Amino acid sequence: MEYRRTAVIKLDTPEGAGEHLRETVEQFKYCANTASEWCWHGRHQIPEESGCQPETRGVSGDDDGYHVTSKAKAECGLYDQLREETELTANLVQKGIRQAVEAVKSGVERLKNDKETSRPTFTADTAIYDKRSATFHRDYVSLSTVDGRIECDYILPDDSENPPTKYITDEDYEFRRATLHRRDGDWFLHASMLKEDDDTDTTTGHRTVLGVDIGVNQLVVASTGRFWSADEFNHWKREYEKRRGDLQQCGTRAAHAAIAGIERKADGRFEIFLHRVANEIVTEAVEHDCSHIVFEDLTDIRENVPEASWHHLWAFRRLYEYVEYKAEEHGVEAVQVDPRNTSKRCSTCGFTHDDNRHGEDFECQKCGYQNHADYNASKNIGLQYLRRRQNADDGGAPVDVRLNRGTLNVSGEYNPPASSEA
Ligand SMILES: [Zn+2]
Repeated sequence: MEYRRTAVIKLDTPEGAGEHLRETVEQFKYCANTASEWCWHGRHQIPEESGCQPETRGVSGDDDGYHVTSKAKAECGLYDQLREETELTANLVQKGIRQAVEAVKSGVERLKNDKETSRPTFTADTAIYDKRSATFHRDYVSLSTVDGRIECDYILPDDSENPPTKYITDEDYEFRRATLHRRDGDWFLHASMLKEDDDTDTTTGHRTVLGVDIGVNQLVVASTGRFWSADEFNHWKREYEKRRGDLQQCGTRAAHAAIAGIERKADGRFEIFLHRVANEIVTEAVEHDCSHIVFEDLTDIRENVPEASWHHLWAFRRLYEYVEYKAEEHGVEAVQVDPRNTSKRCSTCGFTHDDNRHGEDFECQKCGYQNHADYNASKNIGLQYLRRRQNADDGGAPVDVRLNRGTLNVSGEYNPPASSEA
């Protein structure tokens, strides 16, 4: 059994090191953006004298005959150039190229499904490290930079019961890889850690996910059966729109200033509300021992929730961002899955039909399962993630969706809670 956790560690950078770290992430970004551009505007023919394998040289190696989605081909076409143009080590150059290829791959997927997309760009101050470009210790890390290795101590809270200290001080957790981040002038390491043990009980431990459905009436419904109503949010939104409308009719400069004031106040209120909901969702996941919180993919949320206004769309995205970073602090990962059919599919028998759903009511036309439509969807969203990960070759894939009592496995079969947690 494997436990995967992300530890967010603040770094104490030695005098003068900040500059080298900044230059390192700048050059990393340069590699990723150069590679993204190269891969996006594909059809490259790489000369024979490059020494690359013939199958990676020709345009036929491109995934859709145009974009480059092969890491081997991208490295073959770019590695030498980027080594020359940057002061990064081989490993960091490769990581930059690979990050771009992964992003281009998802872009190409979107194009294949006739969805809007554009060339991926990298703007965040980050760089990806593995054990060749970094040496992870229990109290400091040694990072490869444009100016050789730099050692940074960890700044850890004393609280050994909570992340990140809990995982870093636990020798059973091994560092796998990490992303270096710069935030508000400080440096952080987001370290992926892994623990393996012989615990075979799959109904406890971190092998379950929390599925969540988002919507305009019930803002969030979790697979544990917990509901977060959008009433408060919708009420404020109506109130705000009404006052805005009244003021707009005045058209005076004072009215415009008043509108701006209301907007600021409304945004603040919405944000406080969303922070609270995000905290509660993360607590729900932590209390139920979930390794992941699964949302539907928000990229196409406009199509999937046609009744959503721009306020809702804004709220959904903001909520996901809050959940994502709050979850990370607890070693829980927020992920998104393709929401196709999650509202029409029966979470019990898998039967998928338009007639299964009528507004907020779900009734399976095949097996008769009845429940709130959003609750049914939340279970499907969790299941969707299990199915996606089932074929992943990492052994650490979660195997169950957490319900109020018990779990659902990937085939939708219900397991009652183990006696130890009853
Ligand atoms: Zn059914």
